[in-house]
Amino acid sequence: MDLTTAGTDIARVIVTGEEINARLQELARQVESDYEGRDLLIIGILKGAVMTMADFSRALNRHIEMDWMAVSSYGSGTKSSGVVRILKDLDRDITGRHVLIVEDIVDTGLTLAWLKSNLESRGTQSVEILTMLRKPEAAKVDVDVKYVGFDIPKEFVIGYGLDFNEKYRNLDFIGVLAEHVYQ
Ligand code: IMP
Repeated sequence: MDLTTAGTDIARVIVTGEEINARLQELARQVESDYEGRDLLIIGILKGAVMTMADFSRALNRHIEMDWMAVSSYGSGTKSSGVVRILKDLDRDITGRHVLIVEDIVDTGLTLAWLKSNLESRGTQSVEILTMLRKPEAAKVDVDVKYVGFDIPKEFVIGYGLDFNEKYRNLDFIGVLAEHVYQ
């Protein structure tokens, strides 16, 4: 869905579809060079990272494997609870693998800090993180994120996989939700 159709639900656009695609190409070149000569498993975190995973994986000019995990950290509101539950685990054993977690957004960092140490505890050779967005001002824990699409202000954003009560995931850009939608 584009901005014209989403209309007044969007207060302002933070990142356009064109900017997303250009940044994903840059990140793909970086990842290709960092993982040269090594097998790579990229793990997308459902559901928010679906768009990033789809576009980033297609930007990569090399073989990779893909798997998915679903974790819950938010419930239906807009605040992180810090409690992480695995709703869907990986399909395969990841012992000895080089793993790259692909996320939509790092807000407090609580979800990814937990996830990274969870995957490291499975005997992986390396675990790194790629996120489309990061809110540096919202960080509650220090989590080492190697690949960041865009740093954004501490505001609730939607689109390109990110939702508000399951809506807006299919926007082809990332924007700030208008106040009238959640008040
Ligand atoms: P964290 O644990 O606070 O870093 O939150 C991570 C998860 O919260 C993300 O994977 C998103 O699903 C969700 N989240 C955080 N900020 C936003 C936002 O601005 N819009 C939509 N979802 C968000």
